[in-house]
Amino acid sequence: MKIFKNKSNLLKEISKIKDLAFVPTMGSIHKGHLSLINKAKKVSKNVLISIYINPKQFNSNSDFKKYPRNLNKDISILKKIKIKYLYLPTYDDIYSFSPKYSVHLDKFTNKLCGKSRPGHFKGVLNVVNRFIEIIKPRLIFLGSKDFQQLTLIRLHVKKHKIQTRITVCPTIREKNGAAISSRNEKLKKNQVGIAGKVYKYLKSLKKKTDSINLKKKQLKIINEIMLLGVKKVDYLEYINIKTLKSVSKINKNCKIFIAYHLGKIRLIDNL
Ligand code: AMP
Repeated sequence: MKIFKNKSNLLKEISKIKDLAFVPTMGSIHKGHLSLINKAKKVSKNVLISIYINPKQFNSNSDFKKYPRNLNKDISILKKIKIKYLYLPTYDDIYSFSPKYSVHLDKFTNKLCGKSRPGHFKGVLNVVNRFIEIIKPRLIFLGSKDFQQLTLIRLHVKKHKIQTRITVCPTIREKNGAAISSRNEKLKKNQVGIAGKVYKYLKSLKKKTDSINLKKKQLKIINEIMLLGVKKVDYLEYINIKTLKSVSKINKNCKIFIAYHLGKIRLIDNL
């Protein structure tokens, strides 16, 4: 595996590659990331992983500081699975140039995590826009666990007619159903159990939804989720994923979206 810590060496290596498959991550590699990487490996020999914890997408410096960091372990995992390129950019690599395209923030930014984490998606789109300009990947692999992020990146790419194809990968879950996340490593055992209960609760809610009007029952549902051991629910919404609008009743185009806190850890999921 070739590891690049600066842009100029990376560009010398990849500028002529036509089928570069890019998997952006913030590290602490887990099974969710590996599912994206495996998909990328199936379609290209030239897979490039980035690990960069982007300070601009965190709402507070303390959240940025406590984000899990496991670089040595990540490198050994990626070496073992024979990844060709790993990019570990510096802040200056990413932010010391003026990008060709401005960040396009669709109005879907104002919902879900955009509401509870102001500025978060501006930070995400900013870094992704810059990564795309540096790397010029033909393919990008993103997880639907971060559905809002993925949708906003798609809309940005579409708006500017950027020549890259986005492949969406399904959410990989723990045995108990909780979505795998780098932040899960900070959870205590009982909190992992609670995350599993939240998943099961939402799954059964999704089955019952024909008869449930979320707007009328929202407080009751949030209370029931809190009774499972959740400290706070940032949001619980049904979104029609075709129109990106909130709806009260679920139909086949809808997903349930949640952000909630277990102790000091904030988790998101959609199903
Ligand atoms: P992150 O390192 O959390 O920024 O995630 C990097 C990429 O991995 C993003 O496209 C995420 O959506 C994706 N990802 C994170 N967790 C999972 C998961 N449990 N299943 C599938 N993809 C995931």
